[in-house]
Amino acid sequence: MQAPSYDVVVVGAGIVGGAAAYHLARAGLRVALLDRSGVAAEASDAGAGMLTPLAEAGADDLHDPLLRLGLAGLRHYERLEEQLQSETGMWAGLVHLPTLYPAFDDKSAEQLRSGLAALQSWRPELRWLEADEVRRREPLLAPTVRGAILSPAEGNVAIGHLTRLLVRAALLAGAELLPPQSAQGLLWDGQRVRGLLSERGPIEAAHVVLATGAWSSIWHERGEQEAVVYPLKGQLLALRPSGQPLRHTIYAGPLGYLVPKADGSVFVGATSERRGFDKTATAGGLAQLLAVVRQVAPGLEEAAVERTWAGLRPVSIDGLPFIGPAPGSPGLWLAVGHGRVGAITGPVTGFIVAELLQGRPAPYDLDLRPFAPERLGAWSRLRITLSEAGAWRQPPGLFRQASAESASAAEDQRRGTP
Ligand SMILES: Cc1cc2nc3c(=O)[nH]c(=O)nc-3n(C[C@H](O)[C@H](O)[C@H](O)COP(=O)(O)OP(=O)(O)OC[C@H]3O[C@@H](n4cnc5c(N)ncnc54)[C@H](O)[C@@H]3O)c2cc1C
Repeated sequence: MQAPSYDVVVVGAGIVGGAAAYHLARAGLRVALLDRSGVAAEASDAGAGMLTPLAEAGADDLHDPLLRLGLAGLRHYERLEEQLQSETGMWAGLVHLPTLYPAFDDKSAEQLRSGLAALQSWRPELRWLEADEVRRREPLLAPTVRGAILSPAEGNVAIGHLTRLLVRAALLAGAELLPPQSAQGLLWDGQRVRGLLSERGPIEAAHVVLATGAWSSIWHERGEQEAVVYPLKGQLLALRPSGQPLRHTIYAGPLGYLVPKADGSVFVGATSERRGFDKTATAGGLAQLLAVVRQVAPGLEEAAVERTWAGLRPVSIDGLPFIGPAPGSPGLWLAVGHGRVGAITGPVTGFIVAELLQGRPAPYDLDLRPFAPERLGAWSRLRITLSEAGAWRQPPGLFRQASAESASAAEDQRRGTP
């Protein structure tokens, strides 16, 4: 088999794969990054980019592993922002506006207030604002607001921009971005993974990192029928305020959220829909998003509608991402299933994988056991032996016969067959 040889090939050029490629290349490893659709082509260009790990945390789940990963994600951003800006000379995409968690009835206000002390054990800078102060700080909010938690350090990020910048910085550090191509199987020598087979041929590498977002189940023994990672469609709406800008990210729990972007626009989100791999922005979705504006920030009703779109969150069935080595497939690493929090936790995941792959301990004192890749079964599908891969340069019919099952499964997944 004649093929280029790398230390690591990363599949998926979203925020997770981009971050993994960046940290690995920076550490001096020979890295190839590939994606069939280009850089930031999927969820990592669609997300709202809120960096709000506390958004879903209640007083009773402070030891939730996802919250801990999210807090590590925030810490990681502090250093990543500086590092990327100095290495590329470009803005890293961070918007340092604070977040408000408002309540619009007495019961929710009481709940928010009573959970505040526990949350302050993680982030002491959080504080409670009475209704008058909330209205003064954010006049676009509904006047029925009863109070809010102010979180000064939870901002947001232009996720597509950051993803492209991570890839740019990875290339500056020596990584190679391969032409768009689909990964179809893992090269397997009977003992360990030796690289992968893409539609263009074999790519030899000592390690393979899967950062394949909502399309990851194809690699898992349960396959697509019992997908351990599934796509959760989210629709968003971008508004352009005609008057004063929104000054905070507004996270209003089940009502929805509004995110002020660096260019003055406001993202309103988001729907959560099980629709397979469909990404159509619909009338029903738009109606739901307009209701968020009306209920939470009616001061934005005169804003111009700029666009609507949808993306696919890669959600794992137990709510936790898969991060780390796959013990049943030495040489294979997982970095998938970040669901609703991939903007927060994607960059730190790339860093974690890079550290572990170099034999270092988990950074930020993280306990990674809850994220163990093989907790729900092995990532053992689509293995292709070296001799099958060697047949690749022979007439296509021969190769197709050898790997028919792998290739058709990959194609089904690409088209979104459930
Ligand atoms: C509407 C919406 C709002 C969101 N809001 C937030 C938010 O406010 N805060 C937050 O933290 N997160 C948010 N998210 C979640 C976040 O955007 C995602 O978790 C994150 O982008 C996932 O990144 P990823 O790299 O895992 O996946 P993706 O960005 O989807 O990248 C996976 C890549 O893998 C490629 N790929 C897959 N299979 C193959 C293959 N076989 N061969 C080659 N390439 C392959 C795909 O083409 C794709 O480019 C939101 C998401 C959505 C959709």
